[in-house]
Amino acid sequence: MKCIACGKEADHELRSLMIETMHLRGLDGDKPLQRLGKKVETTGVCSECAEKYLKAAGAGGKRVMKKYLIFGLILLVGALVILAGHTDRVFLTTGIAAVFCGLAGLVTEFLQARTQKKEFDEMSDEKRYEKAAWQVFLQHASKKSEDEYFDRTYMPVNDETRHMIPGDLMVLYKIEPVCVKKMMRMIHNPQGIDPQDKEPVPAEIDKQE
Ligand SMILES: [Zn+2]
Repeated sequence: MKCIACGKEADHELRSLMIETMHLRGLDGDKPLQRLGKKVETTGVCSECAEKYLKAAGAGGKRVMKKYLIFGLILLVGALVILAGHTDRVFLTTGIAAVFCGLAGLVTEFLQARTQKKEFDEMSDEKRYEKAAWQVFLQHASKKSEDEYFDRTYMPVNDETRHMIPGDLMVLYKIEPVCVKKMMRMIHNPQGIDPQDKEPVPAEIDKQE
């Protein structure tokens, strides 16, 4: 299996279930329309890409520094606006808002990076790479359905999720009540399909031909 990120031979195999959600705005509020992928898919990620992710996600890593830079800039611009236009109320409120936004962003990023680092530090090497591989997969997996109407999210299918109760999975992966039973049938089926599906999945059609 090839790595989803770089195309090299992958050493981590991830199983995932795709969840497609469309948010319809009705008179009675936001009504999500949801459907699940036809089967649990397997994707490969190589150790090098997982390693790269771990380095970039850690404190002082590229991804974290980039965010610090963005919020730092917002803070700086806010401060400059306050200095330059402190006599004008509109300038002053805009400047103060920017300073707060920058500060809040910096603090949030710092706390997030610290939590993630702590989480990664406490994990076994194997678990750490598996988590990093999952993040690499998420970065490269498509975020929209082909028709662009549905947002795509993914749920990992592994020992951890298979041992979870439906309610926890619904909250964690934002699964609508109508999809829960199907989701449970799919993640507990060794072939990753819903045995109650009447139509054969594409892989089976291929085999028949
Ligand atoms: Zn790779």
